[in-house]
Amino acid sequence: MRTQVGIIGAGPAGLMLAHLLQRAGIESVVLEKHTRDYIERRVRAGVLEQSTVDLLNDAGLGERMRREGMVHHGIQLRFDGAGHRIDFSELTGGRGITVYGQQEVVKDLVRARLDAGGAIHFSVDEVGLQGLDTQRPRISYMLHGEAHELECDFVAGCDGFHGVSRQAIPADKLTTFERTYPFAWLGILAQAAPAHDELIYAYGDRGFALFSMRSPQVTRLYLQVAPEERLDDWSDDRVWQELHARLETHDGWRVNEGSVLEKSVTGMRSSVVEPMQHGRLFLAGDAAHIVPPTGAKGMNLAMNDVLVLARGLIEHFESGSDAALQRYSQTCLRRVWRAEHFSWWMTSMLHRFPADDSFQQRLQRSQLEYVVRSRAASASLAENYVGLPASWGTEP
Ligand SMILES: Cc1cc2nc3c(=O)[nH]c(=O)nc-3n(C[C@H](O)[C@H](O)[C@H](O)COP(=O)(O)OP(=O)(O)OC[C@H]3O[C@@H](n4cnc5c(N)ncnc54)[C@H](O)[C@@H]3O)c2cc1C
Repeated sequence: MRTQVGIIGAGPAGLMLAHLLQRAGIESVVLEKHTRDYIERRVRAGVLEQSTVDLLNDAGLGERMRREGMVHHGIQLRFDGAGHRIDFSELTGGRGITVYGQQEVVKDLVRARLDAGGAIHFSVDEVGLQGLDTQRPRISYMLHGEAHELECDFVAGCDGFHGVSRQAIPADKLTTFERTYPFAWLGILAQAAPAHDELIYAYGDRGFALFSMRSPQVTRLYLQVAPEERLDDWSDDRVWQELHARLETHDGWRVNEGSVLEKSVTGMRSSVVEPMQHGRLFLAGDAAHIVPPTGAKGMNLAMNDVLVLARGLIEHFESGSDAALQRYSQTCLRRVWRAEHFSWWMTSMLHRFPADDSFQQRLQRSQLEYVVRSRAASASLAENYVGLPASWGTEP
């Protein structure tokens, strides 16, 4: 079998790349190890930057997002029992974010792929990459117990942090930059109307908490916990008690309780590999970099990578020029490192680090006060949170 672009992974990155290529008349095959049902139910990110919203709209995928997504114009930072609003619109000239679950984005992308008659294989196994240094790289895989081989012009490794694509690159060709944080997030999805209309980031002696939402009926909540925390030790009652304690304010505001639909613990890590390319293999999204979720950047970075990659591939197939493809890694990494810094900065400002002494905690508090009282500091947070324009970092 042959295709122009073999895409490994049907997350936001792989599916969006397939869609952008299909609109330009470029053929691709998407290979995904899980079932369609699984990827459409997987609860993960939910904050779309303006540039991701623009990309979905421009690609003809924004209809349901415009109907069901919730546009937010600010967030609240909460400490010492009081909330402080960061007004994105006012600080960034009208920009904002849209809350729309990652699984909804994935559903819209899968639907578009199937409607366009594009190839997508679910439940593939034993994916392997060969000939990456040649003009005809190959992907081998098992499907329904049968061995297959797909010959491609290019391979896009969009298979997330634990995928096989990055591992197919010889170790001496990649440099990895990494940081592991000494805590994790315990996240719940609850059948409860959000008690506030914007996200709340709460700093306190008991640790960090985040109030978020996925729809007018569903609240998403997170607690900072130890990295080795066992879910079994967290009954629903204990989770609610801790959320009330960390999010409470002097005026008696409380999060609404409801039945817990999903509960999970996610470790917190920053990681980047450079370059994001080897031979004819291009890495995109979590396969190349991950950020702690505090800055809400993971899915947005994945979308930006594939926009840059699609432009490079279209240029190659239309004009034979590889100039944009050769700049792929450099172009993406500028935005990636900005997001890495912002995510690290938000994480460092808002979490309790086990090794921190009282001096360090005073510094954190001072930083929070500066961010909410200084227009320059608030504007910097707002500009990074809503996301830099799509053009940012693309010029030499
Ligand atoms: C558990 C978890 C929770 C998260 N929560 C948040 C959050 O609350 N907020 C936030 O902002 N961000 C969150 N993120 C980050 C965000 O979801 C990611 O940045 C985003 O999913 C990146 O998209 P992607 O397409 O690059 O990778 P993914 O979405 O990971 O997609 C990769 C796809 O490749 C498939 N795959 C993997 N290996 C293979 C293989 N060998 N062969 C074929 N297919 C393969 C996977 O099944 C998957 O469908 C979370 C991430 C994780 C892992």
